[in-house]
Amino acid sequence: MTVHDSAAVSSRGGGGPLYIGGITPFSTVDWPGRLACVAFLAGCPWRCPYCQNHILQARDAATLGAEELFSFLEARRGLLDGVVFSGGEPLAQEDVIGAAQHARELGFAVGLHTCGAFPARLRAILPSVDWVGLDVKAPWDAYDRVTLAPGTGPLARASLDAVLEADVDMEARTTWHPALLSQDDIAAIGRDLAARGVRTWAVQAYRHTGTDGSLPNETVFPSDMPAGVADLFEHFEFRRA
Ligand code: SF4
Repeated sequence: MTVHDSAAVSSRGGGGPLYIGGITPFSTVDWPGRLACVAFLAGCPWRCPYCQNHILQARDAATLGAEELFSFLEARRGLLDGVVFSGGEPLAQEDVIGAAQHARELGFAVGLHTCGAFPARLRAILPSVDWVGLDVKAPWDAYDRVTLAPGTGPLARASLDAVLEADVDMEARTTWHPALLSQDDIAAIGRDLAARGVRTWAVQAYRHTGTDGSLPNETVFPSDMPAGVADLFEHFEFRRA
């Protein structure tokens, strides 16, 4: 069965075709505190040079469709807390909204990883989502430096507004490569998030493995964090991926 064949028979639950690059059956790290499977949806409009899933930036990287995902989920009812839609950028596919609703109907909690590129779709899916991991990649006016795409800061800021207004459980996460973000940038991001009411922030040290290799193999350490910024959050974590 090709992806497109599977997509054609995959409209259960009101969802349309999905283009999925892979499924991780069990994960305890993609949704902190939950045992979840992760569906990696193919396609992303941005081109962050630190992308760990750059193979999935193209939709034609998909090898699975919604039929396979929901067959997998139906076989694991009661064994998993939830499903995380990740990517790529899952909201690049409008049909992920119906898929999240259907996963809920099957009894799964729904998590979402998003870069914030599609704020209108994010607003539409939030009623079917229990937790969001939202990338905050840079100070809003410096966003394109990281995404290598034009006009991205206002989209990401609108996405953060949508998540905060929906009052859904969320984690903001920032990947830090020293060539892309300075210590002052990290401090500015942290202060802005705290002022907006974000309570959980994770700073993720750049990891070279799995990227396209376009950035120098340099990283940051907990001691590089600007003083006092982590204290602005109820929950802060410095992650060494
Ligand atoms: S937004 Fe995410 S998936 Fe898209 S290029 Fe950036 S890191 Fe990769």
